[in-house]
Amino acid sequence: MELNRLTIKEASEKLDKGEITSVELTEACLARIKEVDGKIKACLAVCAEEALAEAKKADERRKNVGAIHGLPLLGIPYLCKMNIMTKGIETNAASKILKGYIAPYDATVIKKLKAAGAVLLGKTNLDEFAHGASTENSAFGPTYNPWDLKRVPGGSSGGSAAGVAADMCIFALGTDTGGSIRQPASFCGVAGLKPTYGRASRFGLIAMTSSTDVPGVIAKTAEDTGLVLSVIAGKDKNDSTTTVADGAPALSDSYSEQREECHGAGAPQPTLKGIKIGLPKEYFIDGIEKGTREAIDNAIEKLKELGAEFTEVSLPHTKYAIPVYYIITPSEISSNLARFDGIKYGLSRRGEAAPRLYDVYAKSRGKGFGPEVKRRIMLGTYALSAGYYDAYYLQAQKVRTKIKEEMDEALKKVDCLLTPSSPHPAFKIGEQSDDPLKMYLEDIFMSGPSLAGLPAISIPCGFDNDLPVGMQLIGGRFDEAILFRVGGSYENATEWNKDKPLL
Ligand code: GLN
Repeated sequence: MELNRLTIKEASEKLDKGEITSVELTEACLARIKEVDGKIKACLAVCAEEALAEAKKADERRKNVGAIHGLPLLGIPYLCKMNIMTKGIETNAASKILKGYIAPYDATVIKKLKAAGAVLLGKTNLDEFAHGASTENSAFGPTYNPWDLKRVPGGSSGGSAAGVAADMCIFALGTDTGGSIRQPASFCGVAGLKPTYGRASRFGLIAMTSSTDVPGVIAKTAEDTGLVLSVIAGKDKNDSTTTVADGAPALSDSYSEQREECHGAGAPQPTLKGIKIGLPKEYFIDGIEKGTREAIDNAIEKLKELGAEFTEVSLPHTKYAIPVYYIITPSEISSNLARFDGIKYGLSRRGEAAPRLYDVYAKSRGKGFGPEVKRRIMLGTYALSAGYYDAYYLQAQKVRTKIKEEMDEALKKVDCLLTPSSPHPAFKIGEQSDDPLKMYLEDIFMSGPSLAGLPAISIPCGFDNDLPVGMQLIGGRFDEAILFRVGGSYENATEWNKDKPLL
């Protein structure tokens, strides 16, 4: 048995029964990284020694207490996106400006995973500072899609998605600002969860767009993403946006309840009876590729068989989601990235080459940032400048409110929304990298839920020309549970998430 292929649920059951050890599981993942990562380039750093030491500790902890049901991640190896701080291990956001940077503290999500006994294997590639949709913007070269090495894995969490798809780890952490977990998950045929904004702490994430950034999970099943979320979620005094809405169910309670429901009944039962799913008509547009559309239509039929009822809903402001996102995102980026000035962190051109302070800033930033990062800083600085602020940034914020209200309203009438994750499967490396606008359009189905702060998941639902297709489920604020219920039932009734790339 190849242990690295296991899901979290399968691995933790085997660990509980004493059939395997965390050291064996970790060794299997490290061996897989060695075997295939030369081709895929998902990892920017691997910490084998530290991982094996952590795995050993987890095995001892389990031995002392026996089966530990409350700690589903004890001894489970994972990969983490390179823009999440890990004490003692490089965090460079795939940027030259932070090359060699070692964070002095762990992000809250890392702290929580450590406490739960999860084992960090290494850090994954991304578009520089998470700006992109293909992982081609990494300063350290692209990641390749395990399903077809000529294609992109999506982005920006492309390394995490490719790592999970190629079974280099049991799960991975990513961040999602405007699609960066869901889109690569769909391109790589794995599950990707973007939690509600405020569900999990952003403390220790390298900030991109603070008003939409969220840490999230890429895993082999929807259920596994829920297991990780129940560990990383929660209020954090270091992130004041982690407030749980009044009346919102506590995640762990509702999650275990939902799990009972979707597992107890078995696959062919109408486990989704009474569940209403909305199909936003603005998301079912002409530009969707035929094979992708067919996969989505088949998924809808399958969900109907499981008892779900579908209704069409309308979200008329959808067409503004991309323009609004690409005003707000660069604006926040231009402000958040001001801290990389050649003085406080990373690459610096201090000294003779830069006699004045201004030269230090200009030369450090000029040398350290890649072209897409510079483009966004310029766009954002322009949108925020006096005279243009009202016309661009303020106007975008007003439309954002409309988008949010409209989605909240639709989600009062249905339990969740279903859309394709992307209009097409993974595209070829280099195919779009010269056309920033085309690349921005990759987020067409992703930016709405991000601007609205809603939870959403991408789940594999078929193939288009032998490449994975994902469907997106969008839930109400703090209602991740519905995503696990619908996604879990769908997974139990289908086999898409069991297909693996041949490597
Ligand atoms: N593709 C989007 C962008 O380039 C989303 C990135 C993200 O979610 N980090 O901004």
